[in-house]
Amino acid sequence: MLTSFTVQAQTELDFYDIIDDISTERIEADITTLANFGTRHTLSDTLSQTRGIGAARRWIFDSFQEIASACAGCIEVQYQKNYVEPDGRRIIKPVWINNVLAIQKGSRYPNRYIIMSGDIDSRVSDPNNYTDDSPGANDNASGMAGTIEAARVLSKFSFENSIIYTGLAGEEQGLFGGKGLAAYAKEQGWEIIGILNNDMIGNIKGVDGVIDNRTFRIFSEPVPPTETEQERKSRRFYGGEVDGISRQLARYIHKTVKQYMPEMNPKMIYRLDRFGRGGHHRPFNDAGYPGIRIMEAHENYTQQHQDIRTENGIAYGDVLEAVNFEYAKKLTAVNAINLASIAWAPPAVTELSIGGIVEASAKFRWSKANSRDIKGYRIYWRDTTSPTWDHSRFVGNVSEAILDGIVIDNFFFGIATVGINGVESPVVFPNKVFRD
Ligand SMILES: [Zn+2]
Repeated sequence: MLTSFTVQAQTELDFYDIIDDISTERIEADITTLANFGTRHTLSDTLSQTRGIGAARRWIFDSFQEIASACAGCIEVQYQKNYVEPDGRRIIKPVWINNVLAIQKGSRYPNRYIIMSGDIDSRVSDPNNYTDDSPGANDNASGMAGTIEAARVLSKFSFENSIIYTGLAGEEQGLFGGKGLAAYAKEQGWEIIGILNNDMIGNIKGVDGVIDNRTFRIFSEPVPPTETEQERKSRRFYGGEVDGISRQLARYIHKTVKQYMPEMNPKMIYRLDRFGRGGHHRPFNDAGYPGIRIMEAHENYTQQHQDIRTENGIAYGDVLEAVNFEYAKKLTAVNAINLASIAWAPPAVTELSIGGIVEASAKFRWSKANSRDIKGYRIYWRDTTSPTWDHSRFVGNVSEAILDGIVIDNFFFGIATVGINGVESPVVFPNKVFRD
């Protein structure tokens, strides 16, 4: 008889409560406040109380601080800043890039972090124009407001892993905020489970004429840029071309959404980001951390990076009127249930060996995660052409397993750790091979 669970079982109802608690009205109010700072350009005024990036970041800091006060200090709020010298491109004067961090410490694994990010800064047509009005309502007040709202809702729960809610600056000038925070995470020795970067989560009317308030995109790169030459070579023989750590995070999000928000249509995009374009998950990927971008499915380029104007009857500008707050709420809920799930999940295994060459069965060995909160492990597999982990088998709290009659050549495999609370870690792809 098990009598004293150290971790409470999460139920499906917890996830539905989180979804129901995300508020369209609060998101609308926050996007409106952010857009009304006139401009939030990274190089804009920092002294005014009402205009510019200084006023905006202080308001974000205060918003997180209010959430912290309401949960008896369950969240710590701080600035994380990086000094950047002029680079002859988009940094035309020396500037402090100030990120705002709100950290909800995990009860069991405080040094393991899942991050949700939005951006503080905005821009117009000329990337170095830091004075003209630049409401950046969708790009990226939507992601920022979603991040604050997720903190509000999740601060009512406690988690085993830590969650960071962050507003990053310097995105439009060259991803400087993300670079700074990824370097800071390395310095601090934080174990980053992943980052969910939200960049433009409020537009439902595409430049292609499509109107769609259910579909959204999850961008993930195939394999980490930090992999070794040896890892690259071994992929030719053992697979893994579409199974890097960021891709597993993307699949996790896809699965969680399918389970708890079946009305939504998550679309995994098998690339780092949009064609030739960037976002703040990239510097985390560059540092070897899993990271993905969550984003609307249909962009409208007349409402992105544009001077506010009317030209040939077309209204340009990233203005409030073009944001769909209900959709931003849905994508915020997508983030919140995934942050919760990952923050409730036990650690993934770090080492998974696979065997079964010229045999009728696939075999696995792994080092058990060092934790009392584990119910066991679940082996996942899928056809080599499938984007999702379609088959699985729970194998108990063991450190090896055999899938009888499953030929290693015909599938890809992975493993997730299952907590005694029923919540699973992201899937880990095999990183070793055995031949006995
Ligand atoms: Zn942008």
